[in-house]
Amino acid sequence: MSFTIPTFLEKLTRNATIRAVAVIMTLAGLIACEPDYYGEVLGVKGVIDSERSGNWLTHEHILVDFIGAEMTGSHRWNPIDVRHKMLPYLLKAESVNIQTFVDATPNYLGRDPELLRELASDSRLNIITNTGLYAAREYKYLPEYAFEETAEQLANRWIKELTDGIGETGIRPGFIKISVNADQPLKPLDKKIVIAAGLTHIETGLTIASHTGPAHAAFEQLDILDSLGVSSKAFIWVHAQQEEDYSSYKEAAARGCWISLDGWGWEQNDHYKRLIYFKTNKLMDQLLISHDAGWYDPSNPESKVTPYNYIPKDLVPKMKYDGFDIAEIHQILHFNPINAFIIQRRLK
Ligand SMILES: [Zn+2]
Repeated sequence: MSFTIPTFLEKLTRNATIRAVAVIMTLAGLIACEPDYYGEVLGVKGVIDSERSGNWLTHEHILVDFIGAEMTGSHRWNPIDVRHKMLPYLLKAESVNIQTFVDATPNYLGRDPELLRELASDSRLNIITNTGLYAAREYKYLPEYAFEETAEQLANRWIKELTDGIGETGIRPGFIKISVNADQPLKPLDKKIVIAAGLTHIETGLTIASHTGPAHAAFEQLDILDSLGVSSKAFIWVHAQQEEDYSSYKEAAARGCWISLDGWGWEQNDHYKRLIYFKTNKLMDQLLISHDAGWYDPSNPESKVTPYNYIPKDLVPKMKYDGFDIAEIHQILHFNPINAFIIQRRLK
């Protein structure tokens, strides 16, 4: 690859600036007194007692609005209708021993923290929401400011959602949800979103869950975080089931990130083959599993909902039958999610 001199210098200066901002944010964060949610898991109703968080589903959706960033908004759904339709599915998950539910719907795709808080009260589930932006699907879900602002400006928006709450709701996000288009290499806009997530992590300790897919896109994001001084332990490789080369899981685990096999609501056999690979290769302590199921669709309120109970109801008994021990099951449904979602700076 060849650079013209001005572009090269520009890049050099820009990278140096981002690194300098990262260092300043790290120092500022270390000096500042930590808020009460630091070192904890944070749900829409406040700090969750992690010891009592039970079994987790780490990537699900209560509502998703695919209309696009320009047209979406809470005017698109009636929260009473959503609660009426979705509560039975949450209660069903609860009845098969799920206690904590991570809602992975990002801002501009139907994130509605107040709706989630209502549903957390209606059920007794802990529900966790997020901050961040979703770049995948060719930026259809990015608001205009995401194209114009710098990574630092985007990070400041996300940090503010944690410190001040989302909008006027007083509800804080429990993690950063981003997504990238899996180009090789990643495009500048996707990289900017990842840098913004890294800067937000440095300041807040929020974990970064990135809708990614293939391994090359996960590794490139880990490289970006690495250059900011953020440990791979702060990163969840979401939709890792889309990677066909299983050896990539070993490589990702060696780098330290969390690996999320999260499409069990849609497909089971290939997921199970991967699960066996994780067990055989002793990678279970970095694995997260979930359904990526749901959801209420404002464009089609009568559409079918995929339930959230395959894992506890069908998969767990199958795993026991096939020789997974209780400790392994407890690890992927309880301990790994806590360790993945705990709010804590993980720096290199
Ligand atoms: Zn999802």
